[in-house]
Amino acid sequence: MPDVVVVGAGPNGLAAAITCATAGRSVVVLEAAATVGGGTRSAELTLPGYVHDVCSAIHPLAAVSPFFVGADLSRHGLEMVHPEIALAHPLDGGRAGVLHRSLDETVAALGADGRAWDRLVGWTARRWPDLAPAVLGPMLRLPRHPLTMAGFGVRALPPATLAGRAFATDEARGLFAGAAAHSFLPLSRPLTAAPGVMLLASGHVAGWPAARGGSQAIADAMAKRLIELGGVIETGRLVRSLGDVGHSRAVLFDVTPRQLLGICGDALPDRYRRRLGAFRYGPGIFKVDYALAEAVPWTNPDVRRAGSVHVGGTLREIARAEADVAVGRHPERPFVLVAQQSLFDASRAPNGRHTLWTYCHVPARSTLDMTAAIEAQIERFAPGFGDVVLARHTADCAWYEAHNPNVIGGDIAGGSHAGLQLLLRPRPGLHPYRTPNPRLFLCSSSTPPGGGVHGMCGLHAARAALATTLR
Ligand SMILES: Cc1cc2nc3c(=O)[nH]c(=O)nc-3n(C[C@H](O)[C@H](O)[C@H](O)COP(=O)(O)OP(=O)(O)OC[C@H]3O[C@@H](n4cnc5c(N)ncnc54)[C@H](O)[C@@H]3O)c2cc1C
Repeated sequence: MPDVVVVGAGPNGLAAAITCATAGRSVVVLEAAATVGGGTRSAELTLPGYVHDVCSAIHPLAAVSPFFVGADLSRHGLEMVHPEIALAHPLDGGRAGVLHRSLDETVAALGADGRAWDRLVGWTARRWPDLAPAVLGPMLRLPRHPLTMAGFGVRALPPATLAGRAFATDEARGLFAGAAAHSFLPLSRPLTAAPGVMLLASGHVAGWPAARGGSQAIADAMAKRLIELGGVIETGRLVRSLGDVGHSRAVLFDVTPRQLLGICGDALPDRYRRRLGAFRYGPGIFKVDYALAEAVPWTNPDVRRAGSVHVGGTLREIARAEADVAVGRHPERPFVLVAQQSLFDASRAPNGRHTLWTYCHVPARSTLDMTAAIEAQIERFAPGFGDVVLARHTADCAWYEAHNPNVIGGDIAGGSHAGLQLLLRPRPGLHPYRTPNPRLFLCSSSTPPGGGVHGMCGLHAARAALATTLR
């Protein structure tokens, strides 16, 4: 009988398993899919020789995550590649906002908005070591640096549309809005400045890198580390009920609340079941991966040097697109997230060729093909894009849910960020990773700090189990 069974080998499940194994507990991971990784898998989706990141592509949160920094996965073959420019935000007329890894370079490039950038984003980046434990963990804890947290709160609590007024130029406003839109929320909602400030500041702290060879390299390195520690991984093992788990002292679930309810049934008390039943899921995505004959012909030269590109125009346009999605409409001009990994990693495509990763937000369970809308947005800033496309692979909400049962209705963030669910998930409480059943824990992105590849949900859930049931 192992001490711990982890259900699901996404980055949080693997982080939980590694943390338990590092503490000397025996661990078995049961993964439904044929390969490990969950949202960090890569595949030849278009043509042979073109490696696409099926889900996550760019990893600012992994770069600053105490779990990943502590795990030192470079020993297991993980290499993070930094693009020349972290993030570019093209605008009409050949203009672009640019996030350099260097704060000074970014401030200088933003000209009139440089000082405002330094006050909002630079301030946060400089205090990152004090802020990280609080913002990358459960919220209902006394912060170790209350004054710094208060300063961060002033910057993070407002709606992004309001915080964006700190800037005068479309370049700075656009950069800020694009990062804030990672929240999947209308940018006029309170707290939407938070993901913007965090993601941009993390860019100055540790960059916005991609994994050499594809995001699968992250999962593979985690799996190797776990096996080195004596852990066991069984793929092709869909867990439908607690009976499928077998005996163990603790079970950590890398699944979302709806799945937890389905698997654990009567093992959880009614009151907790009702509260988990009220957990809300967010909008979905539509994704297009491309094989390209050559790199995207962006009008602005800086955009051709960037790893990530936010395509959506001005703050006002992005706010409109996200507001549409929130009320169940498909935006005519969607906000498109783009990654061009092959510009900095030749292993992604045959010689001289390229890959492109793009997706936009859509209402939950959308079945609409957004390819034309995505391509119209890219053509707007890169005329002639269509001429370099060799092949495309499209994926809607249903495709993603079939790929990974955690992507409920196309929600890639493990649950909506609306209201208090951004901070307090899966429900308000002091112990988000525990359930009322002392054997069962939740370790997925439905717990703090939420979506993204950082492993911090897994780390905290494992610590909660080690401090209680596994003591
Ligand atoms: C298209 C897309 C783009 C993204 N882009 C980025 C990005 O660029 N950067 C970033 O940081 N994040 C990105 N993300 C988000 C990131 O992938 C997720 O937040 C992250 O993978 C969540 O990790 P997790 O371990 O909580 O869950 P997941 O990665 O979803 O893993 C859950 C695992 O559990 C398994 N599982 C589920 N149910 C069962 C069961 N009953 N039995 C056994 N196994 C089960 C699943 O098969 C899966 O392997 C993206 C996601 C998607 C889909």
